Order: sequence, then C-alpha cells, then structure tokens
Amino acid sequence: MQNRFDYIVIGAGSSGCVIANRLTEDPDVNVLLLEARGPDTKPELLDSANFTRLWAGSLTGSIRPSQSHS
Ligand SMILES: Cc1cc2nc3c(=O)[nH]c(=O)nc-3n(C[C@H](O)[C@H](O)[C@H](O)COP(=O)(O)OP(=O)(O)OC[C@H]3O[C@@H](n4cnc5c(N)ncnc54)[C@H](O)[C@@H]3O)c2cc1C
Repeated sequence: MQNRFDYIVIGAGSSGCVIANRLTEDPDVNVLLLEARGPDTKPELLDSANFTRLWAGSLTGSIRPSQSHS
C-alpha cells in the first residue's frame, strides 16, 4: 500500500464517497478514503420497503414521520 496521497477524504458517507469518486476520475490522483464505522448491515437500511421501521428507531433518535394537517 502506498503512503503518499494527493487527497485524504475523512468519512465514507454520502458526501465523502461522492467526493472520493470524483477525485479518482483523474487517474493521476491518489485518494485515501477513511471510514470509522463498518458497513451498514441493518436490514431496514437495505430494504426500502421497510424504511418506516427506521422512524423512532435507534438510528433516528427522536425523529418522527411528519403528519399532514388539513
Ligand atoms: C435512517 C436515515 C434515513 C435517511 N434517509 C434518507 C433518504 O431517504 N434520503 C435522503 O436524501 N437522506 C436520507 N437521510 C439523510 C442522509 O443520510 C444524510 O443527510 C447524509 O447521509 C449526510 O451525508 P454526509 O456525507 O454529510 O454524512 P454521512 O453520510 O453521515 O457520512 C459521514 C461519515 O463519516 C464517518 N466518520 C465520522 N467521523 C469520522 C472519523 N473521525 N473518521 C472517519 N470517518 C468518520 C461516519 O462514520 C460516516 O460514514 C437519512 C438519514 C438517516 C439517519
């Protein structure tokens, strides 16, 4: 593994992955993408049909689905 990089991106979340991907479009650029966590393996995250189970769950804290007011 090389130990010299042109860019170091901290966090392989939504924005970090986009930035790292764009930077590596240049084959002459070396990019190191660092991520602190492991992969997202919760079934609710991988199956969009079950996304409502994420509301008020451990990932969202106190977030609740919005209610319509008529
Ligand atoms: C349950 C849930 C559902 C969501 N659903 C949607 C949706 O359907 N549509 C939508 O548009 N948005 C959704 N969001 C919001 C969306 O996920 C965030 O707005 C977006 O991910 C923020 O991107 P980000 O790159 O700023 O942060 P993140 O994607 O959170 O990325 C930050 C990354 O940095 C890492 N990190 C932190 N500190 C360090 C460190 N010291 N060293 C290395 N790595 C580090 C973290 O582990 C993480 O991977 C959802 C959020 C949650 C919690």
